[in-house]
Amino acid sequence: MNFNSFRKEIKSGNASVKELINEFFLKIDSLNPKINAYTCLTKQIANSQSEKIDEFIFNNKKIPPLAGIPIAIKDNICTKGVVTSCSSKMLKNFVAPYESTVSGKLWSSGGICLGKTNLDEFAMGSSTETSVFGTTSNPWDINRVPGGSSGGSAASVAAGLCLAAIGSDTGGSIRQPASFCGVVGLKPTYGRVSRWGLIAFASSLDQIGPITNTVSDAAEILYSISGKDHLDSTCLNKPVPNYLSDLDKSIKGVKIGIIEECFNHPGLDPEVKLSVLSSVERFRSLGAEIYDVKCPRFNDGIATYYVIAPCEASANLARYDGVKYGYRSDGESNLLDMTSKSRAEGFGDEVQRRILIGTYALSSGYSDAYYKKAQRVRTLIRKDFDSAFDNVDVLLTPTCPTTAFLKGDFVNDPLSMYLSDLLTVPVNLAGLPAISIPCGFDKKGLPIGLQLIGNVLEEHRILNVANIFEKDAGVMNNKPNIEILINN
Ligand code: GLN
Repeated sequence: MNFNSFRKEIKSGNASVKELINEFFLKIDSLNPKINAYTCLTKQIANSQSEKIDEFIFNNKKIPPLAGIPIAIKDNICTKGVVTSCSSKMLKNFVAPYESTVSGKLWSSGGICLGKTNLDEFAMGSSTETSVFGTTSNPWDINRVPGGSSGGSAASVAAGLCLAAIGSDTGGSIRQPASFCGVVGLKPTYGRVSRWGLIAFASSLDQIGPITNTVSDAAEILYSISGKDHLDSTCLNKPVPNYLSDLDKSIKGVKIGIIEECFNHPGLDPEVKLSVLSSVERFRSLGAEIYDVKCPRFNDGIATYYVIAPCEASANLARYDGVKYGYRSDGESNLLDMTSKSRAEGFGDEVQRRILIGTYALSSGYSDAYYKKAQRVRTLIRKDFDSAFDNVDVLLTPTCPTTAFLKGDFVNDPLSMYLSDLLTVPVNLAGLPAISIPCGFDKKGLPIGLQLIGNVLEEHRILNVANIFEKDAGVMNNKPNIEILINN
């Protein structure tokens, strides 16, 4: 169901918003034990938000744009008075004392908060397997991962346990799980959306964005959450266009660049390649002009990202010292022992690995060789994109090299896990907007996603191209068979 069909249900007057929201909670109660998408539910908050909307409707008052839309929030985004755990033992009992800008904007636009969703610990991962709450299941096949790190958000949308979920994307964490779960995931331009209240992983890469069933729903959420915020100095002071107004514009003559390096990569699954290339033909038949484009540094993204992101993470996570936030180990007699034991017990293996890599790469004598070099390559990657956009309007790649893998496949092989981000991380390094939309299925019936990358602040353009494709391809009409999940 998309926003507009839900709005029709509200309008029909057969049920109040409160009752409709309760139906979502009933579905969550029966399915979440199987899917593990939510880490906590906010029924009380949802009730009072729904009552307010019902009152507006009853009194014939003008209702806000997202009135009654049930939304889930990734659990690394602060929601006042609600646990915000980052799916880590470190913050398992941390109740956020303030509301993030993004969630605050959603509630004042009339959205209803259903709860918080599962993620890889501190958003570090590609499978939602490192969560202290256990792995989330992919609604298309519960033996498989939903992707990560916003796996709970993507799975909750795919399973119909909310109509929109908010994720964060540092290297692909919105787009990769959206691709694995057959839904839409949008990572905005760096600075388009405020990061205030997002628990920092790698501050120069992190960006919040929507995961939804359709492109137009994503456009609506983006409109609500974008814009300047005096609480985040990296947030851009640029007008927010109405992302809905261009959605249905013809894409005749739009220039789409196919990034050659992505399609030649040995790690690319042939079924994914085939599906994305046949989508290219669909774009052509819709009037787009297709060009081959070279981005010679594209495949250096992973090596660059896995230096820069851990460096920033090691600095950001230094605040968890057992004193100011979260978990503290018991019984240590001095500060140093208390801090190191709290961190050793409070953080899981992957988070500790990142902190170690980051601290090493930033240490004196090594930072020129690793961190500074990575920053230089980052600039080259951005330059590749800049020259590509001299000739085309949007760029196209598969979102991920493969479809959803089995739980456990890469748990002991972090380097292979990192390769899952091959096609998404260059976009974060360059600060560009990108969207993942479903484009087909592999022989196992698992969703395949394609990625459209836009130039800085050109969200409207990728949304337009994605929307025209979505309408023509009709892939979104396929949904996972939840009944089978309930009955098995
Ligand atoms: N999978 C990537 C990582 O592990 C990206 C994570 C993200 O975007 N939050 O770092």
